[in-house]
Amino acid sequence: MKKKWIIEDIEKLFKKPFLELMFEAQKIHRKNFDPNQIQISTLLSIKTGACPEDCKYCPQSARYKTYVKKERLLEMEQILKSAYQAKKSGSNRFCMGAAWKHPSERDMPYLEKIIQEVKKMGMETCMTLGSLTDTQAMKLAKAGLDFYNHNLDTSKNFYSKIITTRSYEDRLKTLEHVRNAGMKICSGGIIGLGEKKQDRMELLMQLANLQIAPESVPINMLVKIKGTPLEKNKEIDPFDFIRTIAVARIIMSNSYIRLSAGREKMNEQTQAMCFMAGANSIFYGCKLLTTSNPEEKKDFLLLKKLGLNMKKNNIQKGNHQESISLLEKLSKINNKKYYNAAKS
Ligand code: SF4
Repeated sequence: MKKKWIIEDIEKLFKKPFLELMFEAQKIHRKNFDPNQIQISTLLSIKTGACPEDCKYCPQSARYKTYVKKERLLEMEQILKSAYQAKKSGSNRFCMGAAWKHPSERDMPYLEKIIQEVKKMGMETCMTLGSLTDTQAMKLAKAGLDFYNHNLDTSKNFYSKIITTRSYEDRLKTLEHVRNAGMKICSGGIIGLGEKKQDRMELLMQLANLQIAPESVPINMLVKIKGTPLEKNKEIDPFDFIRTIAVARIIMSNSYIRLSAGREKMNEQTQAMCFMAGANSIFYGCKLLTTSNPEEKKDFLLLKKLGLNMKKNNIQKGNHQESISLLEKLSKINNKKYYNAAKS
């Protein structure tokens, strides 16, 4: 039977001397994963800005004045070009994010078409589109979506200090729909929102105690964006961040723990410690939705220095030639026509 984590267990882990915690996390990591392998995802914003939600950390919320310029849902050709590029750079998962409260019914056929086309390239697919109904989750799953990302962000108690336009229960409901539709869950949180240690513990406990823990758990370090209410938040101690990763690794032993936003601010040594603590997934590419990420070349050199190998695809290999001809075909098609055809 699946272990149910209680807060006392998690507190004990957080209180362990740092090196002991790291050792335990590394032991569990080695039992469940190849310690020298890392999963690489690339994230593309397919619809940017003007989001009606009020997440206080996010430059895409329409409520804050930030550098983000709003963009409409991207055309198929542009999405597939990015997916192809991501695959060529070594990514095995292509994640697509849209700044929405939830996808509209009108856009569903197009989203399904995007999933099908990216899958043809032989990549795993992930989307983050906001809340989903059970029917929408079923449709995305049927189109072949492998993962759905919907972060819990923080603890249930602290949540209302960060977001007021969508409830914690709504988020859990979406995760339930995703799971029931047979997709894998990507869900994690952000460290540095102003939360207490207790909130970090409760967030990890909530994730670990889901019926099945998320297959992918992004742990983000807050990126302080000018114009958002959290732009002046206190820096967090890297050791607290690494500790959170180690505890996530221990209590979600089979999940990929993703070192996510905020990596750009970390030096190589901190990133290496995060990998030592059990992080085994990163975003690769120079942009994370709308915030920057370490340049690919720098990442490549770091992985080389550490002897980390990129994980190969789980799904059937796509045919590169097929991907190229698909792109060529698409560039000849009038985008508008393609968009409309996809929607019909
Ligand atoms: S985090 Fe997502 S839902 Fe929240 S404001 Fe940003 S884009 Fe919208």
